[in-house]
Amino acid sequence: LTKDRYNVKRGEYSLLTDGHMAFFMNLLGQNRVINDPSECESYNIDWIKNVRGQSRCILKPRTTEEVSKILEFCNENKLAVCPQGGNTGLVGGSVPVFDEIVISTALMNQIESIDEISGVIVCQAGCILENIDQQIGEKGLMVPLDLGAKGSCHIGGNVSTNAGGLRLLRYGNLHGSVLGVEAVKANGEILDCLSTLKKDNTGYHLKHLFIGSEGSLGVVTKVAIQCPTKPKAINMAFLGVESFDSVLTTFRRCKNELGEILSSFELIDALSLDVVTGHYKMQSPIPQFPFYILIETHGSCNEHDEEKLNRFLESAMGDGVVLDGTATNQPSKMKQLWELRESITQGLLMDGYVFKYDLSIPIKEFYAIVDVMNEKIGKDAVRICGYGHIGDSNIHLNLSFKEYSKEMHNKIEPFVYEYTSSLKGSVSAEHGIGFRKSKYVHYSKSPAAINLMQDIKRMMDPNKILNPYKVLPESS
Ligand code: FAD
Repeated sequence: LTKDRYNVKRGEYSLLTDGHMAFFMNLLGQNRVINDPSECESYNIDWIKNVRGQSRCILKPRTTEEVSKILEFCNENKLAVCPQGGNTGLVGGSVPVFDEIVISTALMNQIESIDEISGVIVCQAGCILENIDQQIGEKGLMVPLDLGAKGSCHIGGNVSTNAGGLRLLRYGNLHGSVLGVEAVKANGEILDCLSTLKKDNTGYHLKHLFIGSEGSLGVVTKVAIQCPTKPKAINMAFLGVESFDSVLTTFRRCKNELGEILSSFELIDALSLDVVTGHYKMQSPIPQFPFYILIETHGSCNEHDEEKLNRFLESAMGDGVVLDGTATNQPSKMKQLWELRESITQGLLMDGYVFKYDLSIPIKEFYAIVDVMNEKIGKDAVRICGYGHIGDSNIHLNLSFKEYSKEMHNKIEPFVYEYTSSLKGSVSAEHGIGFRKSKYVHYSKSPAAINLMQDIKRMMDPNKILNPYKVLPESS
């Protein structure tokens, strides 16, 4: 259990009674209140199986009004809650630490409107990312966000974590593309900031409080998102290079030569690719190299894009910056290339226990942390590898071991955060703080910033019922 491994003390919240359960059953009906221990299990364990809570009450509202009534009741009765979307979060934020009531958005899965001209869609928080993309795809639009967990994660979870993903380089982050948010405050009040306007400077931009606050300030119930037009032409390349310097040179040239069509630039190191060629027996289209680069372009004219990409490849390979590579625009081949990249996260779990770090590091020093950790930990690990969104200076550093050990944990943390901080990086680039990183926020935020965040939390959730033990360090 999380509370034992991490030595946390339960807050002074009420214990769930039959009277509380009767209220929830009355509100939602029996089918939407789960209390059977075996059914509760999957809501208590996170995706990477790092943390486990012990909630015996999972609530599945369908509407904003139901969420509002649940929160009003929980606030009055001092019952702690944990909002949960697809439960694909990687920092232990989506599952309870103790017996918090889980508010699952799984049944809040309706797309309410799609404006084909402006590209603005409005949907409930529990819509699965991939489902939205498919539905709006039929109307020539795409979601400006894509990630390996797209088949399970919910848009409300994406907004609450300010998820980045594979194409942030091109389409920007959710603070830009989310136009409006509807959320329910801790006291049950519904906050309608569901603007569908691109420009709306009427006072404070309150929606931003809910983008990336990981369920600590309210439950997101609906979102309005600006969606771009689906590209008519998609091309990809998979390249092998000899050194990290060559990766940087390739990136620079890519930006210069592919310019406006570049939609993704991802790095995979040799040991990361080994995860999927080893555990899943996937085939790499090129022989072994120390580093691989995955490039994708989105454009409106295939002839033009293909020519640009081929010209870029010819020159980069001609100069010896890129040693080998393959380019394609066949959907099945592109899918295979994406699978190589997207399956790494899951495949790593087959090594045993994985310490995962999602760091923003200034691009020149981006990869050095893998070497530093190799020097520090060396042979004790099954694997120390790095991959990620290099186009956004975001590395996923992973250290896998046969099993969890406290000793190794102490050897890695807080060192990895100190190191990142010394480079003026961020200890959480896109996954959030959740439970596992709350005591490390100070490595990336000043005391004044943390105080202000704590003031905002106190103001919006005075009884601290929303996702306790997460995001912020305990205030004094
Ligand atoms: P959950 O995991 O259920 O919740 C995440 C956090 O948000 C929790 O703190 C939860 O309490 C809160 N929350 C959820 N819904 C709501 C709501 N409606 N209102 C308020 N709070 C809420 N992340 C990236 O950024 N980029 C990636 O490229 C990426 N790739 C991934 C690949 C894989 C294979 C996996 C498993 C995960 C990946 N992630 C990535 C992490 C994860 O998918 C994202 O953080 C995602 O946005 C979480 O969405 P979710 O619906 O699963 O949220």
